[in-house]
Amino acid sequence: MKIITDKRCTGYSREGHPERPERIISTVERLKSQTELQLAWTAPGPVSDGQILHAHSPELLARLQIPHDFDADTPYCENIAGYAGASVGAALVALEAARDGENVFSLMRPPGHHATRDHAMGFCYLNNIAIAVLEAVATGSRRVAVFDFDVHHGNGTEAILLDHPGCAYFSIHQFPCYPGTGSTNVGTNCFNYPVAPGAPRETYRATLARALGDMKNSQPDLIAVSAGFDAYARDPLAEGTLEAADFHWLGQSLRRLGVPLFSLLEGGYSQDLPELILAYLKGVEGI
Ligand SMILES: [Zn+2]
Repeated sequence: MKIITDKRCTGYSREGHPERPERIISTVERLKSQTELQLAWTAPGPVSDGQILHAHSPELLARLQIPHDFDADTPYCENIAGYAGASVGAALVALEAARDGENVFSLMRPPGHHATRDHAMGFCYLNNIAIAVLEAVATGSRRVAVFDFDVHHGNGTEAILLDHPGCAYFSIHQFPCYPGTGSTNVGTNCFNYPVAPGAPRETYRATLARALGDMKNSQPDLIAVSAGFDAYARDPLAEGTLEAADFHWLGQSLRRLGVPLFSLLEGGYSQDLPELILAYLKGVEGI
């Protein structure tokens, strides 16, 4: 299992914000202290403006340089463009590792799935997964599916990939919840699986299973996973009901599809995040 991370992704923060450096620091400590998974640690690679501009407007790139908060959730921090770019660079390394047949996880921040073509929002500045998927399509992948199990709908990923040839988006999320989108399918290739707040664990898991089945039927040749762990029963930001065992099952289920896949960290704000990530990675690795 390859883990892509960089200590520098912990270099920015806003006091009191749930999307905080400790999410990464504590997960790195947990992964380094365990012995069940054999891990190879790798750093993010370079990213060009051209790769980012597959998914975003030049106006957003320019906006990232302006020192004003983007919205109440999404603060400006010094060099935020550099931090966001490193997270994209990790996604691109993850894509290459998947194509080489490796199991891989990008353990970086900021997350990306709320960032739209023109706007940073919802703790996200650049849409890591959309950029990687469009890079994959531009470099030979024919059918790329995004599987987004973050508890929030990935409105940015959906908007960027909407009706884009070669891409499909499958999102399982709480609805109603932030950002308010994702109640129904959109366009020809965006499939949404809303789950009611506080729905029983069995219901949440059955919805995940239904989405997995639909994605399998779409016969992707590459799967990109927006791995958010905030549907966890004790996450402070939403009302999901999943347990660590469900994230292990998710990893196992994705592995069993037998398609190259890479996973990028999105949300997950409970203090148990390291355990949830470890459970998921064990599932992906088949242990
Ligand atoms: Zn989330």
